[in-house]
Amino acid sequence: MRVVVVGAGPAGVSAANAASRLGARVTLFEKSEKFPIEKCLWPLTLCRDTSPEGLGTSHRIESEVDARFGEGVSAVDTTKKSVAVGSRTTVFDSLVVSTGSSVVQDSFPFQRKAGLFRMQDLASFQRLAEVLGDLGRVVVSGSTALALATGDALRQKGIEVTLVHPAGVLASSLGTTARAFLERKLEMGGLKVVRSPIDSVVGVRRVEAIVASGSVQAADALISFPAWGPNPPTIEVRKGSAGGILIDSRMRCSVMGIFGAGDCAEISYRSGSLQMMYRSSAELMGELAGRNAAGSSAEARLSGASVHAFYGTGVCTAGITLADARGYGLDAAETSTGSEEVSEGPEGELLCTLVFERQTGLVLGMQIVGTRAPSYGELSATIVSNRLRIVDLAFQDNPLFALEPSDISPISAAAREGLDK
Ligand SMILES: Cc1cc2nc3c(=O)[nH]c(=O)nc-3n(C[C@H](O)[C@H](O)[C@H](O)COP(=O)(O)OP(=O)(O)OC[C@H]3O[C@@H](n4cnc5c(N)ncnc54)[C@H](O)[C@@H]3O)c2cc1C
Repeated sequence: MRVVVVGAGPAGVSAANAASRLGARVTLFEKSEKFPIEKCLWPLTLCRDTSPEGLGTSHRIESEVDARFGEGVSAVDTTKKSVAVGSRTTVFDSLVVSTGSSVVQDSFPFQRKAGLFRMQDLASFQRLAEVLGDLGRVVVSGSTALALATGDALRQKGIEVTLVHPAGVLASSLGTTARAFLERKLEMGGLKVVRSPIDSVVGVRRVEAIVASGSVQAADALISFPAWGPNPPTIEVRKGSAGGILIDSRMRCSVMGIFGAGDCAEISYRSGSLQMMYRSSAELMGELAGRNAAGSSAEARLSGASVHAFYGTGVCTAGITLADARGYGLDAAETSTGSEEVSEGPEGELLCTLVFERQTGLVLGMQIVGTRAPSYGELSATIVSNRLRIVDLAFQDNPLFALEPSDISPISAAAREGLDK
């Protein structure tokens, strides 16, 4: 069995190793000349005195894999079952496409000047790291976990951070209740959040201030985080709404023998598709795609779960938000632990929001915010991926909730609130 894998990020390396372990003859093509430094390590340049080379990588290609660096695949011929690499073609029995993501070319209309940082590659993180000592206050533009984590890293260096984004923080992974609660916690921790687009950057040679909805934020730098989207090569297969390769729970795409994994793929979900742009998802999807490319039939119920901590507050998410659910045409509702009880509760209290399908009670998504939220990571993923219903959760006083010292867990509390909806 000849398996070709395209891209040596976490997904491609897992796929190549998994297929090789099952006895396939594996060729791995990577367009970079050297083993690429993993994207999720780039932000470490801001908190450590580490050279990029020192960051290294946490994954390793097994020796049986024929790894070809500096050989990018320009196109895939799905009929002839071959990939084009420069002027050569290589045929395959099975193919795993794991070409990751790239920056979506959103407009960045501000003229180049000192103090403007667009965080789109490792070099931009290094450039920012070099001048951190000169910065007193910065504006971070973005709503993602990466924007927040960077703000947190800068705060720990004594830099004052204002986050400016029209949708607020973590807009795509939190609903309005959880987002408002998190923003309150973050502001208590020292982050200023301005919900607005950026209108202009003040300063002739260098950034002096940012204007957003009429308010002026004095700043030495504007650090902006562009959006990332799937980056598949030229290939005739069905695509998802963001242009990624559409795959099923076995990582198969619409053409037999071709698999997708990691950031370049979108998983079919209801009437649409889901993107899971995390390292761990990429690794798992790669493992499954590699095994199946070598003749297995491995399957996963992916729930898209994440765990973060910003400014001392944890955030744990799994599944989809209410807005997403409505976008898929589902009759869904949201239920939370009482917000007053939570906002006035002692430090460490948790806000739990459950998103569920009204007719079946099926839990489609969960968001937990609070100091102890990260300890709910695995549980949230288990609840969503095992398709539990709110009635299953409402009266569970059992070891499932041993994490919670109080009588009733925040998950049960939210589920009980939701039973009447
Ligand atoms: C700055 C940043 C920080 C992040 N931090 C985190 C984090 O803390 N935790 C987390 O879980 N996730 C994080 N992520 C997301 C995570 O890095 C990605 O989800 C993960 O890297 C996806 O792995 P992948 O293998 O699918 O793609 P990638 O890591 O993008 O790898 C794709 C590989 O394919 C190669 N390639 C592309 N096109 C071709 C081609 N045509 N031919 C051959 N090779 C090709 C690329 O050179 C690259 O090496 C972060 C992302 C960014 C940008």
